[in-house]
Amino acid sequence: MPLRSSIWKVTNLKLAIKKGASVCLCLAMLLSAGCSRNKERRYQAEFLLLFDTITKIVGYSDSEEHFTTLASEVRDKIREYHELYDIYNDYAGINNIKTINDNAGVAPVNVDRKIIDLLLFAKDECRATGGTVNVALGAVLSIWHDYREAGLDDPENAELPPMDKLAEASKHTDIDNVIIDEAASTVYLADPLMRLDVGAVAKGYAVEKVAEYFESQGITSLLISVGGNVRAIGGKPLTGGNIDSWSVGVQNPDKSSPDTDLMLLNIKGLSVVSSGNYERYYIVDGVNYHHIIDPSTLMPAVYFKQVTIVCRDSGLGDALSTAVFNMPLEAGRAYIESLEGAEAVWVLPDGSIEYSSGMNNYIKN
Ligand code: ADP
Ligand code: MG
Repeated sequence: MPLRSSIWKVTNLKLAIKKGASVCLCLAMLLSAGCSRNKERRYQAEFLLLFDTITKIVGYSDSEEHFTTLASEVRDKIREYHELYDIYNDYAGINNIKTINDNAGVAPVNVDRKIIDLLLFAKDECRATGGTVNVALGAVLSIWHDYREAGLDDPENAELPPMDKLAEASKHTDIDNVIIDEAASTVYLADPLMRLDVGAVAKGYAVEKVAEYFESQGITSLLISVGGNVRAIGGKPLTGGNIDSWSVGVQNPDKSSPDTDLMLLNIKGLSVVSSGNYERYYIVDGVNYHHIIDPSTLMPAVYFKQVTIVCRDSGLGDALSTAVFNMPLEAGRAYIESLEGAEAVWVLPDGSIEYSSGMNNYIKN
């Protein structure tokens, strides 16, 4: 299957995968090869189900075998994070985020360092963003999740969650009740009704750690995307040892538009992460209720159709994309401008587009 374009799309492809679905099919590799640049060809591998979405890996290699081996190694690393950060499923011999939730108010849970590091990072980001991205919001998010699933299964009877139910759950979202003991490598939820939901940060964080691992192994060129969290290792190899940028397409939030890309971004060694109201949502009385919940209203955030972040660290990009989606434009702009090396694009409800001051360095004409 030849690739006609070398453009990489940031789409938040969501799969309607039910809990407990078989994982054998999903980890099979869909491999395609494209045009050659000097003696190297472009390869792309796709895997399903990890983090409930599509994983894509793009690279240049002089041999299909080399690329396939590398792509399988990347998949296996991502799968390790997927199992650790899963909030819905148990895995034999593993304490994961679900195990921590199951033990809320009961006991500290001994966990892998990868969970400790994710939660330390998430706590920092929660504080830094004024709580607009809060992994301790699980009690509220699970109510929205259940109403959304029910509404998608039976659209005629789709309902909004009652506000008193959301308000009651919101009393159990204090991030300070996530007690991390680094020395003992345990996590304890001190509030028995608290639940962690790491959906806003886990994919990007995992992609970052996997990319850093392969960089440390000497990989200098690869593009990894998990459900639209794109992380580039280096750029694309050119003849004479030169390096070209990757071209990453940002999904047009207006899906009825013939232009599937809102814009193309040129990046090397950076991440591009979008959050939007158009991928995971349900309809009640003709209104779209999406999956990013503004903690100040307990309702889906209404400021934007989409926020895209460009920065080095894809974990930060993921946290920021959700956090900034929950901030009014001027507050989000001030926050992004205060950070070194982070840029943003906001698509407002009327379709108009706002950019942070350094974004033009990445936009391809
Ligand atoms: P996506 O997962 O579609 O890439 P995000 O990174 O914005 O998009 O994450 C959205 C997910 O994060 C939701 O599905 C939910 O699990 C969780 N979430 C929603 N609102 C918040 C919030 N305010 N703080 C933390 N997590 C959130
Ligand atoms: Mg996010």
